[in-house]
Amino acid sequence: MTNTADVLKEKGLKVTPQRIAIYTILKNSYNHPTAEDIYKELVVSNPTISLATVYKTLDSFCKVGLVKELHIVNEHSNYDAQMDDHIHMICLNCNKIFDYKSSGFEGLSDEISKECGFDIKSHHITFYGVCKDCKSHEE
Ligand code: ZN
Ligand code: MN
Repeated sequence: MTNTADVLKEKGLKVTPQRIAIYTILKNSYNHPTAEDIYKELVVSNPTISLATVYKTLDSFCKVGLVKELHIVNEHSNYDAQMDDHIHMICLNCNKIFDYKSSGFEGLSDEISKECGFDIKSHHITFYGVCKDCKSHEE
């Protein structure tokens, strides 16, 4: 396991305590936090941090491909440090974003490449619906 400082260095980023703190939060979260969510969590232990710093840091993470910015739910972007291939499922009721890892991915990419002669570099697949929790409240 490489540590966070090494991960940042590998991407050519200067290692600062704030960058380490922000990346650590993202890497350990699976709920696709917004910049505000990250800020609220950080400010408890880092009272001097600003929301602008969080935004700037997330921006530099996105630029080097450390984190993905998702524009799928509302005016606030969500951030995802899980860089392995996965599908997103978005609940139209509670707006939560869930991950789903499917082995069907590769087959579909291969099929598209073959049929269309298209070189796929990245993709973003999103399904919209109602999550299990919301469904059980509806019933
Ligand atoms: Zn829901
Ligand atoms: Mn995700």
